Amino acid sequence: MKNMLVTGGSGFIGSNFIRYLLAESEFTGRVINVDKLTYAGNPESLEDVQTAFPDRYLFEKADICDAGEMERIFTAHDIDTVCHFAAESHVDRSISSPEVFIDTNVKGTFTLLECARRKGSDLKLFHHVSTDEVYGTLGETGYFTEETAYKPNSPYSASKAASDHLVRAYHETYGLPVTISNCSNNYGPFQFPEKLIPLMILNALEGKTLPIYGDGSNVRDWLYVEDHCRAIWCIMEKGVRGETYNIGGECEMKNHEIVERICGLIDDTGRTSPGVKRSLDLITYVKDRPGHDFRYAIDCTKIKTQLGWCPRESFDTGITKSVNWYLDNLTWVDRIKSGAYLDWIKSHYAD
Ligand code: NAD
Repeated sequence: MKNMLVTGGSGFIGSNFIRYLLAESEFTGRVINVDKLTYAGNPESLEDVQTAFPDRYLFEKADICDAGEMERIFTAHDIDTVCHFAAESHVDRSISSPEVFIDTNVKGTFTLLECARRKGSDLKLFHHVSTDEVYGTLGETGYFTEETAYKPNSPYSASKAASDHLVRAYHETYGLPVTISNCSNNYGPFQFPEKLIPLMILNALEGKTLPIYGDGSNVRDWLYVEDHCRAIWCIMEKGVRGETYNIGGECEMKNHEIVERICGLIDDTGRTSPGVKRSLDLITYVKDRPGHDFRYAIDCTKIKTQLGWCPRESFDTGITKSVNWYLDNLTWVDRIKSGAYLDWIKSHYAD
């Protein structure tokens, strides 16, 4: 692996992955980050990487659905490895505007697979990053394994399921060396403030309401983003080509428990908004999301026993780090909220 194309590297997990890959893993090659810079992509999340690794990190602003551009990039940078994160990733947005999810998540993945296929034996690996949401919902008991049948319930998870199937099919049909990972909910630094954990941290700091869907009893399995990045690299290095690996934090939490924990941490730091006695008082229960999956829980025995990965952060350590990161990086947040980073993108990368 010498020249790795990372798609969606300016997003939440992709930016953490690139930092991990260059600063902490044994990878010695170059990273070419291809990102369209949608509302969710923020090059400022990688400014430190750009400075620390000027010879090993390159950025290309491009749409993964643009076959001509992808072909140019694969050739110009002699790409031999792909780690594919780029996606529309927000379930609520997929309910109100599903089309772009089909474009990017399905057509974009197809476009990349075709470029990878044309590389022939020069292509070492195509790793596809996916979600546990493809499996649908669980009741009170049971776990998703790699053998669980796909049963996606939202346009987001259906589009990710379609992309997983395409990646698998390219292995079976064309012998493309692929690996796939299906991971549970991530949290940590650089997550866009529309997602549950950063939204609650930032709203609590500003004394805004903390909206929780339904009665807050929906269960998710949470994983600190750096643990996800280590798992992906572990699969890329040691995973069997053609195989899928589930990744999870073995950390099931009800949504209301997460929000309550965040409230406690904010109050402990003394950063509770003026006029608010306890952040807990800001919690408001709102009408449930349509098709809201009740419970996700991952059985990650395969990656643990076969590849030797396990999470390092507990929820306690991970959520404390996350709250502290947002408190220390309010400028990053402000620039997103004010739209200042979009102005910066326009001035640097005119279309
Ligand atoms: P994100 O929304 O933060 O980032 C997505 C990135 O993709 C952005 O930088 C965006 O600009 C880029 N992008 C979108 N459309 C593009 C296009 N057409 N061409 C090029 N770039 C494009 O997402 P994330 O949370 O970092 O998720 C990354 C991947 O991990 C996704 O595939 C997602 O399905 C998967 N995943 C996420 C989670 C999670 O909890 N966030 C959990 C499991 C799996």
